[in-house]
Amino acid sequence: MDIICSDLEGVFVPEIWINVAKKTGIEELKLTTRDISDYDVLMKRRLSILDQHHLKIQDITDVIATMDPFDGAVEFVDWMRSRSQLIVLSDTFIQFAKPLMKKLGFPTLLCHTLTIDPDGRISNYNLRQSRAKRQTVLALKTLYYKVIAFGDSYNDTDMLKEADKGFLFRPPQNVIDEFPEFPVTRTYEELKGLIEKELTTR
Ligand SMILES: [Mg+2]
Repeated sequence: MDIICSDLEGVFVPEIWINVAKKTGIEELKLTTRDISDYDVLMKRRLSILDQHHLKIQDITDVIATMDPFDGAVEFVDWMRSRSQLIVLSDTFIQFAKPLMKKLGFPTLLCHTLTIDPDGRISNYNLRQSRAKRQTVLALKTLYYKVIAFGDSYNDTDMLKEADKGFLFRPPQNVIDEFPEFPVTRTYEELKGLIEKELTTR
């Protein structure tokens, strides 16, 4: 039996924080793990920026609701779910992802959560577990699944390494250079072809 694990941002939908930064006009929210490598420091900074601008969860989800999946993403998700089982593994938060998951037809999503105060203020974030993407692949392997995985960036390489087969999708050049072992794909059609070859259940 096979199962597909995919990333979310940069693969089916645009980067959430970058779009929130663009649409709210708050430049500082464009900071990523490339600018601040410690994720905890980065997230605390983001939450304090939201506080400074009095932005509540609803303000952010309103922005996210205006975002759309990439062209062809919905069809591609449908195709994978018709051919195998799909789990979307993301380092985003369930409250952020919801409006986008609706547009993707609600595939299974494993990600992290935010703590929201009764007045809507985002007071904290909670990682489901550390190295969550990799841990999920490991768990699926104990169930004897053949795991096919793909993602676009650094935070996926752990998962790709652990999977039986891992692909990169539209990765930045530095990730291509650092991880030459993963085939690079640029279109959903290409990815479809490579996944199809790996599927064991016909
Ligand atoms: Mg990504």
